[in-house]
Amino acid sequence: MKYISTRGEAPVQGFEDVLLAGLATDGGLYVPQVWPQFSKDEIRELAGLPYSELALRVITPFVGDEIPADELKKMVDDAYAGFSHKAIAPLKQLDSNDFLLELFHGPTLAFKDFAMQLLARLMDRALAKRGRRATIVGATSGDTGGAAIEAFRGRDNIDVFILHPHNKVTEVQRRQMTTPSEANVHNIALEGNFDDCQALLKSMFNNAALRDELQLAGVNSINWARIMGQIPYYFAAATALGAPDREVAFCVPSGNRGDIFAGFVAKKLGLPISKLVIATNANDILARTLATGRYETRQAIATDSPSMDIQVSSNFERLLFELSGHDAIWLNGFMRQFSETGTGLLSDSVFDQFRALFAAHRLDDEQTGATIARIQRQSDYMADPHTAVGLGVAALARRKGEVASSTPMVTLSTAHPAKFPDAVAKALGVQPFQPEIIVAQKNLPERYQVLANDFDIVADHIKQHARVVANS
Ligand SMILES: *Cc1c(COP(=O)(O)O)cnc(C)c1O
Repeated sequence: MKYISTRGEAPVQGFEDVLLAGLATDGGLYVPQVWPQFSKDEIRELAGLPYSELALRVITPFVGDEIPADELKKMVDDAYAGFSHKAIAPLKQLDSNDFLLELFHGPTLAFKDFAMQLLARLMDRALAKRGRRATIVGATSGDTGGAAIEAFRGRDNIDVFILHPHNKVTEVQRRQMTTPSEANVHNIALEGNFDDCQALLKSMFNNAALRDELQLAGVNSINWARIMGQIPYYFAAATALGAPDREVAFCVPSGNRGDIFAGFVAKKLGLPISKLVIATNANDILARTLATGRYETRQAIATDSPSMDIQVSSNFERLLFELSGHDAIWLNGFMRQFSETGTGLLSDSVFDQFRALFAAHRLDDEQTGATIARIQRQSDYMADPHTAVGLGVAALARRKGEVASSTPMVTLSTAHPAKFPDAVAKALGVQPFQPEIIVAQKNLPERYQVLANDFDIVADHIKQHARVVANS
């Protein structure tokens, strides 16, 4: 499998090079040159397989022959061995044709563990094979950081630096990042919002000297392997509901749009998805884009679903590249216009395709709280605020006729309610049950450094602490 950059000016690379590079050298994102195809029979055979077996079959074509089959199988098995639910991604029925896919049974209680547990194993192996070390720098709106630290803590070949927006993550999220005591774990609380963290991260990757000096590697969903690790659960849910012989719709609480892009990829591979519904909180750039064809940024707003407090999402670029038929020249122009003016205009053909396959709606905090309460009342189910944005938007999409009542709709449940106890308590008047992993972190000392939103300050801090630099 070969990968190309969305900006069309970086070398074509194989899976492991893309895995270690993160962002392409032309500032674009890597996508497969051609999409593998799963026949109806191949999809039918996935139904009922143990999750890790299903995941292995779905990701194998993306890895190609770069990793021996038995080694890949072992990494995939290991990645999901630490999940606390035997089904890994259990599907819950909420109503006659409405389902929830619980993706929070991994070690940090959010769906980020699905890809991150696999990514850490893939990267460690690739680095060991090359006798190399790497410095991971990641930006988080709250959950990616915890998942990355959990997956990479204590690994010999990798230091991990996570930038989170200072005072804009929940206490549970912060403690997941700041309590691991391994020396290769470093937390930076940036004085800014998530968009600032992500912009700073991108400037670091776009600085060739720094990238080489630090041997930078990325774990944000700019890294193709993150997307890859999120495709299998779409197949697991859809085949459980009758695919390939029945269409299924998905509703996805969205921030950096990696998860919804993985759903788009599942459709490209042959899964019969009738609609992909993008659920956003008040940071509704994509809902506005879907209504108007204008991609227009605004200042990010802090909400009760903080992991989705993102305006400028990396993966929208991948989607535009696909919808434009791999037109890197058009995309370069679009991205330049967007970075210069804060607004990009979709072409008619991209806009039409975007609207045909996707729907997008927003839910504000009040509606999200009301949805948490309604789901508790109607289905005796406690949803976290991100999942509630999904469920509220799913109901809207049904009401508007965007998803037929005969089509099963799966909302992704992206986090455990205990990660966001205050928002849940505000809606229900009771605190969610705290799993043991969260309780244990309350008594541990925290380590993090507050830094100004300044490229040089952050880069110097990382250079001072990265083992790649110290040992060179
Ligand atoms: C990361 C995250 C999201 C958003 O996912 P994207 O892939 O960034 O769109 C939604 N909910 C939760 C709980 C998350 O951690």
